[in-house]
Amino acid sequence: MPFRNLGLEDEILRAIQQAGYIRPTPVQAACIPKVMQGQDVIAIAQTGTGKTAAFVLPILHRLSQCHRQEQLRGIKVLILAPTRELAVQIVDNIRAYGRHLPIRTAAIYGGVDEEAQIKALRKGVHIIVATPGRLLDLLERHKLDFNLLEILVLDEADRMLHMGFRPDIETIVGTLPKRRQTLMFSATLSKEIESLARRFLYQPKMVQIGKRSNPADTVTQCVYEVPAHLKNALLLELLRQPEFKRVLVFTRMKDGADRLTNFLKLAQVKVAKLHSSRSQDQRLQALQDFKDGKAQVLIATDIVARGIDIDGVSHVVNYDFPVNPEDYVHRIGRTGRAESPGDAISFVPKQDLNLLDMLELFICQRLVRKHLRGFNYHAPVPPPAPGEKPPRRDWRKRTRDMEAMKAAPSSKRPPPKPADRRGKK
Ligand code: AMP
Repeated sequence: MPFRNLGLEDEILRAIQQAGYIRPTPVQAACIPKVMQGQDVIAIAQTGTGKTAAFVLPILHRLSQCHRQEQLRGIKVLILAPTRELAVQIVDNIRAYGRHLPIRTAAIYGGVDEEAQIKALRKGVHIIVATPGRLLDLLERHKLDFNLLEILVLDEADRMLHMGFRPDIETIVGTLPKRRQTLMFSATLSKEIESLARRFLYQPKMVQIGKRSNPADTVTQCVYEVPAHLKNALLLELLRQPEFKRVLVFTRMKDGADRLTNFLKLAQVKVAKLHSSRSQDQRLQALQDFKDGKAQVLIATDIVARGIDIDGVSHVVNYDFPVNPEDYVHRIGRTGRAESPGDAISFVPKQDLNLLDMLELFICQRLVRKHLRGFNYHAPVPPPAPGEKPPRRDWRKRTRDMEAMKAAPSSKRPPPKPADRRGKK
C-alpha cells in the first residue's frame, strides 16, 4: 500500500517522498489512520521500525487541517521523550516531515542554557518535544501554557512510566486539558506498565507489531562467555576484524565507560564516549563523530539505548550485560534498523550468567554461544605452536623453586631480589 492511500496532506506526502520512503512500515500503516481519526493509541513495535513517523505524520496532518480552518494558535502537541538526544532527533524528524508546512516546533531539555528555549516559546510554537525535568521546571515558573493542547505523546512509554520518571509525568499530565488525544509508543511494554498507562488514555486502540518485547528479526545475536578480566582484550580482538565498522559499546556505569575509553584510546582505536556526566555539547559531539565515521566506536551508557537512530551501526556490543531484559532489547535495537542487518554481541562473565538466563526467558530465545580461543572460562593454556616463543615465565619451575626455598633452612636462603622487596615497608 502506498502512502497516498492513507489520505495524508499533499505537503506531507511530498516530504515523505523526499525522505525516500516508498511505503508505510507495518506500524505506520496500522497507526496513521487511527491517529488521524483522533483515537487514543498504545503502539508496541520492534525497535527501528519507523515508530516516530507513525505518530509524527498523522499529527502533522491534523495540525495542517486545523491550519486550513483557522490560524494555528498555542501549543497543540506535547511529545515527551526520556533523553535529550531522543528529543533532538524527534524534532529533526518533525522538521523533515513538516518542511512544507507552517508548523513551528521547539525542543525543551536540560543541560543547556534555558534562555534560547524560553525565547522560542515566546515566539510561539505548535509542537513541543521535551524531556520531563526541564519541562517541569518551566511549567512551575509559568513559562508554558498548555490550555490549547490537543495531543500528548509518550515516546518510549514504558521508560517514561517507570519509577524514575513517573512522578514527573503524573505532574505534567495533571496540567494538561482532560479532553485530549493521548498516544503511547514503545518497543517493550510490560502488562503492569500497560495497565498503569491506561489511566492516561481514553478507550485506546492497541497496535502490536511482532511479539511484545522481541528484538527485531534483522539483528543476529550471540554471547561470548568470557571472564571479566578478559573483556577488554576480547573487545580489542573483535574490533580488529574488518566487519566491525561502526560499533556501539554499552557499559553499565559512567566510570566503566571512562575506563574503557582510555583503554581503547591507548590501543589506537578511534573512540567517542557518551554518558550523563558529559556536557550537552560533548554528548552531541560524540554522537556526531560516531555518525560521521570519525569514531569507529561509541562507548555509551543506557542513555543511548532508547530510540536513538544512527545509520549503519554494524555491531552493538554489550560489554556489560544489561541488568534489565528490556534494556537489552532497546540496546540491540540500535542496529538492524529499517530492515538492514546488524549484529549484537554480549559479553557474559560467570557472575552474569543468571542475567543471561533471565533474558533468555524474557525473549523466549536461547542465544548462540561463541568462543574465541583463549578468551573463554575454561580455556586451557594453549601449547606453543611450532616456532612460537615459549611463555615468558615457566610457572611450574617457579613453583618448584618456591617449594625448595621454603624447605631450605633460613640461613641458606638467598637474599630477596630487589623486585621482591618492593612494596614492603
Ligand atoms: P524509528 O523507528 O522511527 O527510529 O525509524 C527507524 C528508521 O526507519 C529511521 O531511520 C527512519 O528514517 C526509517 N523509516 C521510517 N519510516 C520509513 C519508511 N516508511 N520507509 C523507509 N524507512 C523508514
